[in-house]
Amino acid sequence: MQSTKYIFVTGGVTSSLGKGIIASSLAKLLQSRGYRVTISKMDPYINVDPGTLNPYEHGECYVTEDGAETDLDLGHYERFLNIPTSQANNVTTGKVYQTVINKERAGDYLGKTVQIIPHITDEIKRGIKFVARKNEFDIVITEIGGTVGDIESLPYIESVRQLKWELGPQNCIVVHLTLVPYLAATGELKTKPTQHSVKILQENGIQADVLVLRTERSLNDGIREKVALFCNVAKSSVIESINVSTIYQVPLLMLGEKLDEVVLTKLDLPLGNDPELKVWRNFVEKLKHPKQKIKIGLIGKYVELHDAYKSISESFIHGGAMNDCEVELSYIHSEDINDENARGKLKGLNGILVAPGFGNRGIEGKISAARYARENNVPYLGICLGMQCSVIEYARNVLKMDKADSTEMNERTLFPVIDLMEDQKDITEKGGTMRLGAYPCRIAKNSFTYKAYQRTDTSERHRHRYEFNNKYLEEFENSGMKAVGINPETSLVEIMEIPDHKWYVGVQFHPEYKSTVVSPHPLFVGFVKAAMGD
Ligand code: GLN
Repeated sequence: MQSTKYIFVTGGVTSSLGKGIIASSLAKLLQSRGYRVTISKMDPYINVDPGTLNPYEHGECYVTEDGAETDLDLGHYERFLNIPTSQANNVTTGKVYQTVINKERAGDYLGKTVQIIPHITDEIKRGIKFVARKNEFDIVITEIGGTVGDIESLPYIESVRQLKWELGPQNCIVVHLTLVPYLAATGELKTKPTQHSVKILQENGIQADVLVLRTERSLNDGIREKVALFCNVAKSSVIESINVSTIYQVPLLMLGEKLDEVVLTKLDLPLGNDPELKVWRNFVEKLKHPKQKIKIGLIGKYVELHDAYKSISESFIHGGAMNDCEVELSYIHSEDINDENARGKLKGLNGILVAPGFGNRGIEGKISAARYARENNVPYLGICLGMQCSVIEYARNVLKMDKADSTEMNERTLFPVIDLMEDQKDITEKGGTMRLGAYPCRIAKNSFTYKAYQRTDTSERHRHRYEFNNKYLEEFENSGMKAVGINPETSLVEIMEIPDHKWYVGVQFHPEYKSTVVSPHPLFVGFVKAAMGD
């Protein structure tokens, strides 16, 4: 019996319309009506996962509990739904082909010509259904990456066509997101691009069931009617998605447009309870009416592309709202900072965050920023490489370990205070081989971190190859930088703090991957509080 229902979210006209936010918002509404919902992302690129991509290419790489390196949209899914995603929630063309080719080599298709249809599409369909395998979900939403008409996404679109046919219209629908541009010269909203992109879907055998139209201006009735007529959908299935100041307003907008009701009716599902969105509305209210404003400097080397730090900036939104405080992020390029100009570049900031990263570029600027924060009593949060930078800085300037470094930057340093993890030493392959995913951490009671978490045991996500070198721990602790978070099983240092400071915390893990609207991450809440001067 067919129990799980499938919703596909496709995009037309242009990329970057916010399919991930629409998918997340719809999921949120369905969840708020009592349905168990998850979201997956199909990515049409040939990398097996985005772990090997430079953030400039594709934004942040988001890490799941089970250690998958995935697309940043999975971060939105988690932040909206407050339930973890997993490896299964991100399928890429690379993964699909790898599986099919491995099967071919194993002889699974012996005697057959292996083809896009049915072998690749079968594998895609298996990936789509796999997330619902344990019957944990009533509804699976699948976001198809790219824009319809792209060569790369054709096998995915074909798979959707097949699924619609196999499962039937009441079990499988397509929500298509397009753009309705406004032409200032004539003062008109134009529907032609939408008509064209709906036609591209039709050419591929798919009739969109619901159209979500991104627009800068309100759609009048005439526009809705025109789109409905030309695109073969009911007028009630033409949904307006107007620009708003925060993505967290989108679920409320979609509720106003009845997107959830339209979708449930099409899927032949009861509307369920009235949407339970009290916490969400409360959060949006706090976001819109902050009582205070602070400025945090985000020091990184990918700052030209804000998507490279997506989870961090969203975590500040959550942590800020919790404190009734607006956090203005000032993105500062680490290559522009040094010990001499740090004061000029960083003065006036209420807090400093040194971002995660890899390799040498910009590292000295990050170390200078960590130094400036320490010496000037500015609240500091170092994440992963940011924590490692604060350790290097402390070693060089307080413990007087000349040219102390991470062996990632200088293999021959006399003071390798950050060193390659033992179990990384024989690894040569780059894909998916870091220390990834959730590991436990025990927090010492007398610490900023404990004050933030209010508990001694936690589990956080990781993505690194290097670690604090425990050979130096005693020296650090004796002089005032303490390891207040340790992996209880391996003794790996997870958190370093300087207790004799307003708020100075470095974490080897990535708290930003676990912050959600309903459950803002305690470290971001604590950091914002400290930066507010509390
Ligand atoms: N490059 C460092 C390591 O591999 C830090 C990684 C990170 O910031 N995610 O340990």
